Amino acid sequence: MEKRLRLAPSPTGSLHIGTARTALFNWLYAKRHNGKFLIRIEDTDSIRSKVEHTKNILDGLKWIGIDWDEEPIKQSSRISIHKNYIKKLLEIGVAYRCFTSESEILELREKQKKNGLPPKHDNRHRNLTSKEIEAFISEGRSSVIRFKIDEEIEIKWKDQIRGDIKWKGKDLGGDLVLSRRAFGNEIGDPLYNLAVVVDDNFMKITHVVRGEDHISNTAKQILIYRALNFKLPFFSHTPLILNNEGKKLSKRDSVTSIDEFREMGYLPEALANYMAFLGWSKKTSGSEILSLLELSKIFNLSEVNKAGAKFNWEKLNWINAQYIKKMDLPKLYKLIKSYWIEMGWESPSKEWDLKLTYLLQDSMILLKDAIDQAKPFFSSSEIQMEGKEFIANNKQAKESLRFILEYIKKEKISIITKENSKEMINKISTDHSIKKGILMKSLRIAFFGCLRGPDLIQSWELFSERKSDILLIERCIAS
Ligand code: GLU
Repeated sequence: MEKRLRLAPSPTGSLHIGTARTALFNWLYAKRHNGKFLIRIEDTDSIRSKVEHTKNILDGLKWIGIDWDEEPIKQSSRISIHKNYIKKLLEIGVAYRCFTSESEILELREKQKKNGLPPKHDNRHRNLTSKEIEAFISEGRSSVIRFKIDEEIEIKWKDQIRGDIKWKGKDLGGDLVLSRRAFGNEIGDPLYNLAVVVDDNFMKITHVVRGEDHISNTAKQILIYRALNFKLPFFSHTPLILNNEGKKLSKRDSVTSIDEFREMGYLPEALANYMAFLGWSKKTSGSEILSLLELSKIFNLSEVNKAGAKFNWEKLNWINAQYIKKMDLPKLYKLIKSYWIEMGWESPSKEWDLKLTYLLQDSMILLKDAIDQAKPFFSSSEIQMEGKEFIANNKQAKESLRFILEYIKKEKISIITKENSKEMINKISTDHSIKKGILMKSLRIAFFGCLRGPDLIQSWELFSERKSDILLIERCIAS
């Protein structure tokens, strides 16, 4: 039978890394088994759900390379269908109207708190007579619909990630609320656990893969599946993503939404690759740099870990750097050129840009590094402390720069190349007994203001092509 999986995000915020990882696991599993991956937008909370969040979620998924096989379904368009199923549950006697008021519930909670008990409804209206119901309605009381949960029951399922899971009926918080409050004989808006079962059944979902925070919901939902005579899907509960302190990664951990990762300069392929291993470790060893397609050929839910997955920035950075290193030069150029344009940096030619891109490619971790690392090539860098110290401690530093200027003039060098620069350095070094190291470091300080930076000769070529090398050397001498 065709495997059908889904992501059911609530559009109450931007696409979160946890939701994106859940989407990825669903997608990988669907691809692995030639199945379908679907999306349902759970937008029934009309106050918190926003169209722009739906757009952000779908755009974010597309950006990391996840596509879907059918038009996304909006849960809000199915409210009347959900209500019909609630009616059905009422008719067959497994659900009932509960009139407990907010203040009565609060009172019950207080009592339970005092006695050290967890919050749990006492199912006080489970067996109301029709007369009692009429009386509550004519009193003007509102009601919710509750689904009966047998205290004695034990709910069991074989979780594809966690193995056997058991949940006791008595630990589910009392009879389950299926709908919001409504007056008279109305049924209020259906709530998550009911809607999710009706919709997953409608969408013929065969495998539900979602975060471990939904385990107790699964127990409740299984009871609804049974009451409605729906075929149960397989369930899998993925581990949470944890921060450095081992707590659930949350908004407080600075970066959590996919947008933010994009803005920081992560590549979608790298982020997707990293996320796949966030909680999943492949049994067979091998390269960790794998495309989504390659991952989909080896992904297995049974290999997903049960324990929380710590978010590891170093590993993500390493993977991102690998993707940058192996990226096509024109593609990388196109991506980083937009940063340069944003900075208002003008370059002499596209060829020059490509050479600079090539020069920086190996040392970049994030796309955004193209700003800091390219900056010295577009505007002169201040000479930093280490540069100043080097010049002060090495008498030959400025001297060597003067010799370079003289040589360039004498030999009428207009463009620096690998060959002529090598010849120049060798000649000055032997003629004036200056160590090559001193020469090179002095040049580096003239160009970058410090002793770090990309390949010196290739950099020099670029500086000379935009005619700034002489000026930078002169400036350093005059400093
Ligand atoms: N809307 C729910 C959420 O975002 C869906 C959970 C599920 O996959 O059933 O947590």
